[in-house]
Amino acid sequence: MYPHLLAPLDLGFTTLRNRTLMGSMHTGLEDRAEHFPRLAAYFAERARGEAGLMVTGGFAPNIEGWLSPFGSRLATRAAARKHRLITNTVHADGGKIALQILHAGRYGYHPLSVAPSRLKSPITPFTPRELSSRGVERQIRAFVRCATLAREAGYDGVEIMGSEGYFINQFLARHTNRRTDEWGGSYENRMRLPLEIVSRVREAVGRDFILIYRLSMIDLIPDGSSWDEVVQLAQGVERAGATLINTGIGWHEARVPTIATSVPRAAWAWVTKKLKPHVGIPIITSNRINVPEVAEQVLAEGCADMVSMARPFLADPEFVRKAREGRRDEINVCIGCNQACLDHVFSRRMASCLVNPRACHETELVYRPTPTPRRFAVVGAGAAGLACATVLAERGHRVDLFEASERIGGQLNMAARIPGKEEFHEMLRYWARRLEVTGVNVLLATPATAERLCAGGYAHVFLATGVTPRRIDLPGQDQNRVLSYVDVLAGGAAVGDRVAIIGAGGIGFDVAEFLVKGEHSPTLDLPVWLAEWGVADPEQARGGLAPPRVPEGRRKVTLLQRKAGKPGAGLGKTTGWIHRAELKQRGVEMIGGVNYERIDASGLHITFGEKREAPMLIEADSIVVCAGQEPLRALAEPLEAAGLPYTLLGGADVAAELDAKRAIDQASRVAAAV
Ligand code: NAP
Ligand code: SF4
Repeated sequence: MYPHLLAPLDLGFTTLRNRTLMGSMHTGLEDRAEHFPRLAAYFAERARGEAGLMVTGGFAPNIEGWLSPFGSRLATRAAARKHRLITNTVHADGGKIALQILHAGRYGYHPLSVAPSRLKSPITPFTPRELSSRGVERQIRAFVRCATLAREAGYDGVEIMGSEGYFINQFLARHTNRRTDEWGGSYENRMRLPLEIVSRVREAVGRDFILIYRLSMIDLIPDGSSWDEVVQLAQGVERAGATLINTGIGWHEARVPTIATSVPRAAWAWVTKKLKPHVGIPIITSNRINVPEVAEQVLAEGCADMVSMARPFLADPEFVRKAREGRRDEINVCIGCNQACLDHVFSRRMASCLVNPRACHETELVYRPTPTPRRFAVVGAGAAGLACATVLAERGHRVDLFEASERIGGQLNMAARIPGKEEFHEMLRYWARRLEVTGVNVLLATPATAERLCAGGYAHVFLATGVTPRRIDLPGQDQNRVLSYVDVLAGGAAVGDRVAIIGAGGIGFDVAEFLVKGEHSPTLDLPVWLAEWGVADPEQARGGLAPPRVPEGRRKVTLLQRKAGKPGAGLGKTTGWIHRAELKQRGVEMIGGVNYERIDASGLHITFGEKREAPMLIEADSIVVCAGQEPLRALAEPLEAAGLPYTLLGGADVAAELDAKRAIDQASRVAAAV
């Protein structure tokens, strides 16, 4: 079904079994050798799942290149020996793996960081030390030593990280390279560093070792590389001995989203396609390619020779095998949320995956077949109930899943309606198929009663009955202009042109996006999306940046919270800025530190501070309450009284700051432990 994607790729000295690259993704397991058994198990599962070539998370070649203090580094033979476990395990499972060499440069989150020039990055608090010429030479030698050690450790190759605004990229762009010696000034001088690294690494490791160079094809920063420079670099890297060129899109400090869920699928493949005719070696495209049909299309259209997917392999280690066996409908698709992967890594927690809590936990979260199948009832087919029911059934238990409404998904159905969150449809599709595959008995439009549960002969009941929107108590709230987010997102309630939203959590932001964007979702229309974020053809504009063209919001929306400070502070670490920017661009006003006083015909009256000062009217035709949730657990008491054992899951357990990540993780763990 996917002839281009599944075709082998002959690299001359070795052949990759298909065109998929499991792209580099820092998981946190790289930082300590004591975690290497877990890292080995993580990669081994993906090797068995038939990933073509895998790349580890980044390893610094020396201390100056650390991403964070005491983070992953490969600089000694003793360290290299510890990697043997990973490479041997992967090879035993039929896989191929390359080690990524990542020098963070000024993105290093530590005081020892170095860079071409003494310029602090906007995303780290440390000012780097400017390297002397000898210092630059030392960094090159560190890259070469790291690559040699990778070969000794049994890796099939290395990827040299030259994009995303890291060290090598910092030499390339005038934005960060103000040097006047042989490493700065003209482009020939600025690109000397990557070319020296690639050619010396090639010389040291021999010809039969994969050398991927990750090249920033569109920097998305002011004063980034021009298109001519990108082409010149790619050709230089090829001449210097690279086997493959991988695509890098945007620096980390860029103000254009590059991988979030609201980025259209394969949004950047056109950039790789632009470069492809200029080089003779195979070229890899990347970013927001999460399903096999999109990967296939990208290859069929000649955008690239291989497709890099990092997060999709976290979501489903068997991505390729399922595609090959015609089981596309069973693929657990990465929804691009970043909630359990990058948000964790950037807050120094171990990565996992919202849709697959086993990711990076392969050794401890195991869904073992049960020796003693029993009958269980799961009540509620939202995220928690679905995860619990399918894991129980996968393990061999008999499961009845009760759902009061006519469809599965619970709150996920509302998420899927938000423009830019279309990927939630994949999640709903996956669960629907997973219920079939595992053989869960799904009872839709069937509210579970205590009597029925008690009479059902169940060994245990799992209550995943979810949440109900928190009600607020305000004078005037009984007017019909006051709606809950459920009325708006699920009930299709009519909403006026001027709206006040009470509560600026995840759902307040979602509702605001829904109301200002209307039915128009730029995520489904690439040219519109690129224009809105100010992305230009890098041949026309250096770095690929142009003035953004954002349509006006469809409504006048004010988003309010009682806490002082910036609304949206609790949103995802890597995605919150995108939501805030999108709303600001569409004129949404965000006000914190308010007291809600009353509602009347003209709108919502608020004051500020403990003394309830500075009264203000937010003129509004509709007021939408997004003030969090309360647990729904009415069945707990009667089950308790009847002596039927039960467990509360998801929002029914703890509603505060409920999200799908916590619900799925908790429910899967509970079901695995039964
Ligand atoms: P939430 O994030 O806990 O936010 C609830 C909001 O209501 C807060 O802004 C809170 O702010 C306000 N609030 C709480 N009690 C109130 C009261 N009695 N009166 C008035 N305001 C009150 O909950 P949520 O927005 O319902 O979202 C639920 C969860 O869904 C989130 O925690 C999130 O994990 C998940 N979600 C995530 C995303 C995402 O982008 N990652 C998107 C949607 C949903 P003040 O107390 O300061 O007023
Ligand atoms: Fe994809 Fe979200 Fe899983 Fe990360 S946490 S791999 S973005 S589904």
